[in-house]
Parts: sequence; structure tokens; C-alpha cells
Amino acid sequence: MNDTNVKKQIAILGSTGSIGSQALQVIAEQVDLYEVYALTAHNNVQLLIEQARAFLPEVVVIANEKKYHQLKDALGNLPIKIYAGMEAICQVVESQPIDIVLTAMVGYSGLRPTIHAIRAGKTIALANKETLVVAGDLIEKMAKQYHSFIIPVDSEHSAIFQCLVGEGYNSIEKLILTASGGPFRTFPLTDLRTVTKKQALQHPNWEMGAKITIDSATMMNKGFEMIEAKWLFGVRPDQIEVLVHPQSIVHSMVQFEDGSIKAQLGLPDMKLPIQYAFSFPDRIRSSFERLDFSQYSSLTFELPDLERFRNLALAFEAMNRAGNMPCIVNAANEIVVAAFLEDKISYLAMSKIIEKTMNRTSYVAQPTYEDYVATDAEARRIALEMI
Ligand code: NDP
Ligand code: MG
Repeated sequence: MNDTNVKKQIAILGSTGSIGSQALQVIAEQVDLYEVYALTAHNNVQLLIEQARAFLPEVVVIANEKKYHQLKDALGNLPIKIYAGMEAICQVVESQPIDIVLTAMVGYSGLRPTIHAIRAGKTIALANKETLVVAGDLIEKMAKQYHSFIIPVDSEHSAIFQCLVGEGYNSIEKLILTASGGPFRTFPLTDLRTVTKKQALQHPNWEMGAKITIDSATMMNKGFEMIEAKWLFGVRPDQIEVLVHPQSIVHSMVQFEDGSIKAQLGLPDMKLPIQYAFSFPDRIRSSFERLDFSQYSSLTFELPDLERFRNLALAFEAMNRAGNMPCIVNAANEIVVAAFLEDKISYLAMSKIIEKTMNRTSYVAQPTYEDYVATDAEARRIALEMI
């Protein structure tokens, strides 16, 4: 941790994405507290160049090595180290001056750099939930071993984390994860067969990257968040409840042993959980829009429809079967979401392919890191054969 008068050094993995860009907005508003040490992106070299010019980090890395020269040409006259490739990302996160690594890349690609950051004892501001879905047990064990602190950025988990502040060893009875229900909450079931990616990409309350927006429409996102919550908060699957709350104002809740329930509320704006992950345990003044209760005549809650949201049921099954099953579901899901976004398969085909991949991929009860890598590759191949 830093002295109070030293700025926290932050590495943003996935700076060109929705979370990454919002993290830069947070830092721009808190220049006395935070400094960008490293920025990484995959393909969007133009935005990475703009961000590097604006924030002058020590290091920038572009994962796609083909874009290295473009980056180097644009930034060569600035005192910024420029690298390319996943190996470089994994090395950069270990740099001594970094205090916090914000993992805001999408999907399985977050796993390796997160492991490197944990090994280096960094504080992880974790947005990349897929890392915990794929290898939660390994990540939790390593975080303990290397004294790396994981602070959730996902709004639901940030809400739970905030509700737990000051509770010491008080036992959690139940976590209540809220979900908006996405664009298809009340859509006629028969019409789900023909929904387009344009419809699925229209989230009612949140503006996010394409992959998580599709995961929100299918509610795979909430299934992943159950698994994420299991690892972050050390609860059993039967202690996690999902409640559809279309207004997205109550970000999640914790029920304690005495029956008391704490909730965290606010407008749907990821800048708040991002800033809290940076400032924890402090709260710092922000300009974010405030919630005005008089604008909400009702906050409503309902149970999710598992027939409509088949992916939620599949993720729940994967969490219970444990081992490498969540890794299998994640890999299959990445394949089908990409295929749906390329108009290669229908909306409903996504769940069918995931379920078949779950049944066909080799099950490993106690996977090692190498098992996860092999499982990810096998499940992707099996899912791809069905596209
Ligand atoms: P985006 O798709 O908007 O951004 C993803 C970022 O990761 C981009 O910077 C992208 O680079 C980079 N990236 C993608 N693939 C790779 C790769 N193979 N190697 C290295 N970098 C890569 O995603 P979001 O910001 O929406 O989401 C990021 C993570 O945060 C996800 O895990 C998501 O589940 C989680 N999350 C997001 C929320 C949100 O509101 N958006 C809310 C809660 C969690 P480039 O663009 O340059 O190609
Ligand atoms: Mg969330």
C-alpha cells in the first residue's frame, strides 16, 4: 500500500473496453490519488494511442502483435515503453511500482495475467469475472498464498463487498444477487426463436461490451456471477439466490444469521464500483449522478424464469457439479456468443450447444492449471464442431 501522499499506481488490462474507459474517467477525476502505470488493449490501437497520449503511462501493451508498429510509430516520441503480446502483459503486471491491477479484459484471456498479478502480490480490482468462473478455486488459493487482495468491480459483488464492511466474522446466511432480466424478461417465449443480435444487444439499464451484453440477455452473466460470488465470499451454492429486479437500483444484498438484510443501492453506473475498488477502504468524493428516490415509484423483485433463461440453469448446474464444469461452460459460452454475434447461430442454439458441450467434454474433479488450459481447448473444439 502507498503512503497517503503517494499516488496509487494502476494497471488497466483492457483499457479500450467499457470498464477500462470508465476506469480512466475515474482516474481523470482523481488525479491527486491515482496514476496510470500501464494500459493494455487487444485490437483497438487507435484508442490505445489516444489514451496513452492523455495519461502518459510508463508502459502500454497491445496484445495483437501485428499492431505493434502502428503503436510504436504513434508513441515513439513519448517516454513510454511499448510492448506487444500476451507474454508482455503477463510480465508488465508484475512491475514493482504497480499497486492495483484492474482486470477489465474480456473472457478467458484474463486468466493468465491475473495469475501473474496475484503471484506478484498485487491488489486485484477484478472485473474479469470469467477468471473466477474458469478457475475460482485456484485463484482463491493463490490469492491467499501470495497475500493478494481481490476487490470485486462487478456491481453485484461490489454491493455485497460493501454490505460486508464492518461485519467481521458475522456469518452470511444468504447472498441475494439482483439481475435486471435483460431485454427478454417479458418477451413472448415463442418469439425467442427468432430474436436478432440487435435485439439482444439492447440492454435496458447498462451500457457494456458486446459479450457481457449477450450474457446479460441470456442470463449466463448472472450464472457466472453466482460462481463468482461463491469464490469471492466463500459461500455454498445453496446460499446464493438470484432475484430479478428490473430497475437495477438495488445492486445486491446480504442476509445475515439474525435475518437482517443489508443492501447497496445506486444508479446503474460502473464508475462507482470501479472507484470503490481503487479507494477501498476509503470512500472519496465523486461527481457521479445521485439516485433520486422520488423518480422511482416502485422497486420490484421476482424470481427468474429458468425455462426462459436456460443458461442460468446450466451455469447453476455447472456450479454444483464443480471441478472443471464451470470452465467447460465458459469456453462453450465464449464460442456460442461469438457465433451468435456473427449471425452463425440462433439465440436458442446457444444454450443447446453449451449443454451438449457440458456432456461431451472430459470431466476433471480437481483440476490443476494445466487441466483448465486443456479443458478450455477441448470444450472450444467440441462447441465449434456444432456451429
Ligand atoms: P469490452 O469488450 O468493452 O472490452 C474488453 C477489453 O479487453 C478491451 O480493451 C479489449 O481490447 C480487451 N481484450 C479483449 N480480448 C482480449 C485478449 N484476448 N487479450 C487482451 N485483451 C483483450 O468488455 P467490458 O469492458 O464490457 O468487460 C470487461 C470485463 O468486465 C468482462 O469480463 C466483463 O464480464 C466484466 N464486467 C463488465 C461490466 C460492464 O459494465 N461492461 C460490468 C461487470 C463486469 P480491444 O478493444 O483493444 O480489442
Ligand atoms: Mg454484474
